[in-house]
Amino acid sequence: MYIDPATCTDCGACEPACPVSAIFISSEVPAKWESFIRKNADFFQR
Ligand code: SF4
Repeated sequence: MYIDPATCTDCGACEPACPVSAIFISSEVPAKWESFIRKNADFFQR
C-alpha cells in the first residue's frame, strides 16, 4: 500500500486505523524504515 504524499494532508486518521501499526506521520517514521519514505514517493513518479 502506498500513500500519495502530494495529496495526503497529514491528518493522521490512517495511523491508528492500521491493524499492524505500519503507518507513521513522515516526521515520526522510525530510522530503520526511513528509506521507505522515498520508496513510497517514487511509486507516484512512475
Ligand atoms: S494522514 Fe492518512 S488518512 Fe490522513 S490524508 Fe494522509 S493518508 Fe489520508
